[in-house]
Amino acid sequence: MALAEQLARNEGGIASVVAILGERFGARLSVSGAVREQHGHTTTWIENQPPDAVVFAESTEEVADVVKICAEHGVPVIAFGAGSSLEGHLNAPCGGISIDLSGMNKILAVHAEDLDCVVQPGVTRKQLNEHLRDTGLFFPIDPGADASLGGMASTRASGTNAVRYGTMKDNVLSLEAVMPDGSVIRTAQRAKKSSAGYDLTRLLVGAEGTLGVITELTLRLQGIPEGISAAVCSFPDVEAACNTVIATIQHGIPVARIELLDTLQMRASNAYSKLDYPEAPTLFVEFHGTQAGVAEQAELFGEIAAEFGGGSFAWTSREEERARLWQARHDAYWAATALRPGARAFATDACVPISRLADCVRETMEDIAELGLIAPIVGHVGDGNFHVSALIDIDDPAELAKARELAGRISARAIAMDGTCTGEHGIGQGKQAYLERELGGAVEVMRAVKRAIDPQNIMNPGKIMRL
Ligand SMILES: Cc1cc2nc3c(=O)[nH]c(=O)nc-3n(C[C@H](O)[C@H](O)[C@H](O)COP(=O)(O)OP(=O)(O)OC[C@H]3O[C@@H](n4cnc5c(N)ncnc54)[C@H](O)[C@@H]3O)c2cc1C
Repeated sequence: MALAEQLARNEGGIASVVAILGERFGARLSVSGAVREQHGHTTTWIENQPPDAVVFAESTEEVADVVKICAEHGVPVIAFGAGSSLEGHLNAPCGGISIDLSGMNKILAVHAEDLDCVVQPGVTRKQLNEHLRDTGLFFPIDPGADASLGGMASTRASGTNAVRYGTMKDNVLSLEAVMPDGSVIRTAQRAKKSSAGYDLTRLLVGAEGTLGVITELTLRLQGIPEGISAAVCSFPDVEAACNTVIATIQHGIPVARIELLDTLQMRASNAYSKLDYPEAPTLFVEFHGTQAGVAEQAELFGEIAAEFGGGSFAWTSREEERARLWQARHDAYWAATALRPGARAFATDACVPISRLADCVRETMEDIAELGLIAPIVGHVGDGNFHVSALIDIDDPAELAKARELAGRISARAIAMDGTCTGEHGIGQGKQAYLERELGGAVEVMRAVKRAIDPQNIMNPGKIMRL
């Protein structure tokens, strides 16, 4: 397994903090090996580096207390949401205290008349949408995992709906956060827009817990559209599917979801989700709007798809059928993993300007073939964002080296195409070298921000960039 970097530990400080927190939290502080391991990185090839203890927090005050105590002793604090991040975000390379926020899972207010809501950070995206069910509103950001909203804000997550509704950066109106000295701040009010000073909301969104712990989020909500129609359409090759996406976006057709699954992924998803679609590169698409608007968009899309050799497809507006389709898409990662029992998925994430999508995916497929990897491709392609999951035996250094080579080539290619090494998963431990390559001197400004806000470097140290 690949070794993540180990940083210096403050042994004395950690021992003192664990003792103090044990007194303060009793059974809500765990030092059990299994619990600690589960609060380190568990989802991918990156080595697990567990924290020294886990505190199960129930309020902002408790989070502030933990952070204050850790700050006094110079001990790292790692916020934990649902644990679904993919780049080693939760690891504790120099030990420290994990604050598990899953118990802070209350929906504090729904302001239906303003289309917003206020939630605690442990609320998950599915829990929120379940709660909103009868209001005619929904929260659109949907990563494949049932992630926590605090974690989603912290990784600047997105998902299948981002092409229409944006990412977490567009859907967080305001945050309450505990800063590295234990003080509690609110970054904005509920107004839809504001010119009031530095945009601290967006600074914390995507900060991966390196600047503070989010303890409350005010989120934008959307009205459930009157008409929703979804379809599946297969193509002769991935390039044809990508070119259909490019033309759809360039024509300004307001697609709500447009997802690519390559042939291998379709084989995996058919088997895992018990579907029987053709084993060919496929687009899953969905339109939102009025009934007439959706019908018109579907027709226009159909014309574009036909130009690129897209097969026939049936539209459905039945909720159960749509739910089945999108569940299969959300399960793509697990379906891919099942292609090679015992293997782990080395998932990568890249995003390019839409005009470069077909080139980027085609060249990536050439790399996969050259390296001899089993690596299905899926993507939120309406945004130019795609993922490759190389299925490898992580204990085999040769296979791991090939997967790293593939990930490196994909990141370098995306950056060379004026894109990014991560559209939505974030930097964590896994992508730091590519961040430097992508943004160069801007990373120095990020370091200056980090040092100014967290001079002791106690908030999730070792993530995003080395200081
Ligand atoms: C099967 C699968 C599919 C996925 N699909 C997608 C996808 O489509 N789109 C996408 O964007 N991602 C996807 N992901 C990645 C993952 O779901 C996202 O990164 C998600 O946002 C992580 O949320 P979490 O609650 O699990 O956070 P965690 O993994 O618990 O934490 C992630 C990071 O956020 C920090 N953090 C957590 N909570 C807080 C808080 N309250 N305050 C400050 N920092 C905090 C942590 O310290 C860590 O650095 C997928 C993952 C899996 C396993």
